[in-house]
Amino acid sequence: MNELIAVTYDVCEVENLYESMIEHTISDTNNLDEEVAAIAARDIAPVVKVFNQNRQLVKEYTFSQYECNCSELD
Ligand SMILES: [Zn+2]
Repeated sequence: MNELIAVTYDVCEVENLYESMIEHTISDTNNLDEEVAAIAARDIAPVVKVFNQNRQLVKEYTFSQYECNCSELD
């Protein structure tokens, strides 16, 4: 098995927040970019980190469309 773990992060620079949310197991690693994009959309996560089973970082994705906009509200 070649499972990976994708962890979604909630990030807010204004509130100095950088917090892990949900861990997802990815079994179909052939379409990693698509799997991660779907996970980010589900959790509305601006950052997703993908780890292997040894908890080593494989790849980090950022999705600027899910960044919070609270700095623009003032
Ligand atoms: Zn914010």
